[in-house]
Formats: sequence, C-alpha cells, structure tokens
Amino acid sequence: MADERTFIMIKPDGVQRGLVGNIISRFENRGYQLIAMKFQLATKQILEKHYEEHINRPFFPSLLKFMLSGPVVPMVWQGKDVVKQGRAMLGQTNPLTSAPGTIRGDFGITMQKNLVHGSDSVESAKREIAIWFQDSELTHWKPAQNAWVYE
Ligand code: UDP
Repeated sequence: MADERTFIMIKPDGVQRGLVGNIISRFENRGYQLIAMKFQLATKQILEKHYEEHINRPFFPSLLKFMLSGPVVPMVWQGKDVVKQGRAMLGQTNPLTSAPGTIRGDFGITMQKNLVHGSDSVESAKREIAIWFQDSELTHWKPAQNAWVYE
C-alpha cells in the first residue's frame, strides 16, 4: 500500500557526524514521502517506551546513555513497502555485517553507534509513531513527485 508508514530516527552519532542530510536524501531520492520530523533531545521516559523490549538486556543502560548524549531526528516516512525497504536501506543491526550501500554499511563500525533506527514491522511502526508524534503532527500533503514515482 502506498500509504504504509514507518518510523525512522537518526541517532545522536548520525547527528554529530553531520549525516542528517545524507540519510534524509536517501529516503527522498528513493521516492518516499516525509510525513513528520523533529529535532530534539530524547528523554529517558520516551526511550524506555521506545526500547521497551530491550529494557532488561545487558546493553540497555549503555544504549540509554548513548541515546541521551545528543539530539536525535525522529521522522515518519510513507510509501509502498516503506517498512521493509526502510530496514533494507538501514542494513543490519551490526554495521560490520551490513552491505556497502546501506546506511550502516556505509557509515558505521560498532553495534551501538549504528546511526539510525527503523521500525521492523507495520505494527512496530504504528506503536513507535504514536510514542514520538501526536496525530496532529502527521502532515497530510501530496508530493508532486508521486505521479512520477508510482504507476
Ligand atoms: N544494541 C546494542 N548492543 C547490542 C544490540 C543492540 O547497543 O548488542 C543497540 C543498537 O543501537 C540497536 C539497538 O540497540 O540499533 C536496538 O537493537 P535491535 O536489536 O532492536 O536492533 P535494530 O532493530 O535497531 O537493528
């Protein structure tokens, strides 16, 4: 469905390394549509919700510290198959096993500082979008390029 949505977030390392524009460009260039975007410091409360499934993992305290170390860029992107394609564009969790051409494979080396988050299913996307954005922050608009991206 062309109205599928995913939650993509540039992590503090992506911001500090000046890769915000590059990461956004990849989604724009692919033909996906930006629906919402923020630039903010995350909070412990929001990260505990976002990473709920990892709260008891040994790496969680260190992940939390990293994610609070600088600004992040939470975004909502829309388009056909965007959840699966977004994950493919990110690469694997570990940048060292990520193919060149993916964001993590092009810019990352270590597991934690892997630059960007992307929802792993349509259900996770809905949950994550609701954590980071109010409904009123999701902008309705029709990109001119859609007529040239979709048949
Ligand atoms: N992470 C980590 N150490 C690990 C596994 C994960 O620091 O051993 C971090 C990493 O930044 C990852 C995030 O925790 O992106 C969430 O992990 P998940 O398994 O959900 O990976 P993702 O869906 O982001 O690829």
